[in-house]
Amino acid sequence: MNQQNFPELREGVRQVVTAFDSRYWQEVDEARAFPEKFVTALTEAGWLAGLIPEAYGGSGLSLTEASVVMEEINRAGGNSGACHGQMYVMGCIVRHGSDKQKQDLLPRIARGEIRMQSMAVTEPSTGSDTTKLKTTAVRKGDRYVINGQKVWTSRLQHSDYMLLLARTTPLAEVKKKSEGLSVFLVDLREAVGKSITVRPIRNMVNHETNEIFIDNLEVPVENRIGEEGKGLKYILDGLNAERILIAAECIGDGYWFTDKASAYAKERMVFDRPIGQNQGIQFPIARAFVNVEAASLMRYRACEMFDAGINCGAEANMSKLLAADASWEAANVCLQTHGGFGFAAEYDIERKFRETRLYQVAPISTNMILSYVGEHVLGMPRSY
Ligand SMILES: Cc1cc2nc3c(=O)[nH]c(=O)nc-3n(C[C@H](O)[C@H](O)[C@H](O)COP(=O)(O)OP(=O)(O)OC[C@H]3O[C@@H](n4cnc5c(N)ncnc54)[C@H](O)[C@@H]3O)c2cc1C
Repeated sequence: MNQQNFPELREGVRQVVTAFDSRYWQEVDEARAFPEKFVTALTEAGWLAGLIPEAYGGSGLSLTEASVVMEEINRAGGNSGACHGQMYVMGCIVRHGSDKQKQDLLPRIARGEIRMQSMAVTEPSTGSDTTKLKTTAVRKGDRYVINGQKVWTSRLQHSDYMLLLARTTPLAEVKKKSEGLSVFLVDLREAVGKSITVRPIRNMVNHETNEIFIDNLEVPVENRIGEEGKGLKYILDGLNAERILIAAECIGDGYWFTDKASAYAKERMVFDRPIGQNQGIQFPIARAFVNVEAASLMRYRACEMFDAGINCGAEANMSKLLAADASWEAANVCLQTHGGFGFAAEYDIERKFRETRLYQVAPISTNMILSYVGEHVLGMPRSY
């Protein structure tokens, strides 16, 4: 079975995450609080520094192994959404940062001294049409002055640094619309409350996410990542890893839901028989499990290509789509299997149901993936 490989790695992650039980997650969810103890424990155990190269103090895991870490967090009933940014946002520095940025940031992230788990790309008026984003960064001597607005900027209140994508050359002046955008490293400890105003967004999931207003934020030129104008390429470079890791979280959710549903179906007696004896209950759980297993295989395929340095854009997107669909199917089946009890918070199902629903929309919505496959894999005409 897919979920039994990497036994030592899985056991190591489980030792940390199983300490955070159902009661912990219910309390955090009810209080709409950030799972600080959980994120700290994972950081201290080194799991969130998995993708930082050993030369910079990380453990230099492959993406395959990192995906197993994410899977195990969600499989144990936790929510990686609170910490996955810490695992992949810094990838932009690893791939495109200057030596100074790498030396300065990566060891401190690996040691857990600083958090960089926030990335501000999405804007309220442009959404998925990223190249039209309106936040501007204008160079003034040795600094950039940034103005604009972002939305859904997650984990910002629990980060020391954030990556921000802004336009450095007006859209009308670039040859390709994907050019003229740049990525900046923003020191949130200096900016929040001064040039960045944060408005938290209360949302369906207990996810710390915000709308932010940026007013004359000054960023030193040395905080630009890579070359000016190539920022979108740098962000896109990181998306394959992000998609695969999110797919792994969905797979963890999928196993959690099918485990929970099958256990309940075996023990819940109605009409003098376990409900799981009825094929109307048994088959949907079995089908959901089959789909989680299939999605997991596509995840491993995407990881294998990523780790071998082969372009895995199609596989990363497909694994994210299959995994998000499989976990959502499993969530529905698990809720249905539990009947009315599925709605009670103490069973954790309604919380996990809300959490896994997010992955149909973020970090990339299903339609955008289908559009990618339709256009780039099947060669059909561009729709946007
Ligand atoms: C809880 C949460 C956390 C998030 N965290 C972050 C974060 O940390 N950083 C960040 O930058 N962003 C973040 N996001 C934003 C997320 O990436 C976007 O919500 C997502 O990319 C979709 O963009 P949108 O919401 O603007 O939808 P829109 O672009 O407005 O689209 C709305 C719907 O229309 C569909 N659609 C749009 N155009 C087309 C088309 N041409 N063909 C077919 N369908 C189309 C979309 O697929 C979507 O279903 C987060 C979102 C949420 C909800």
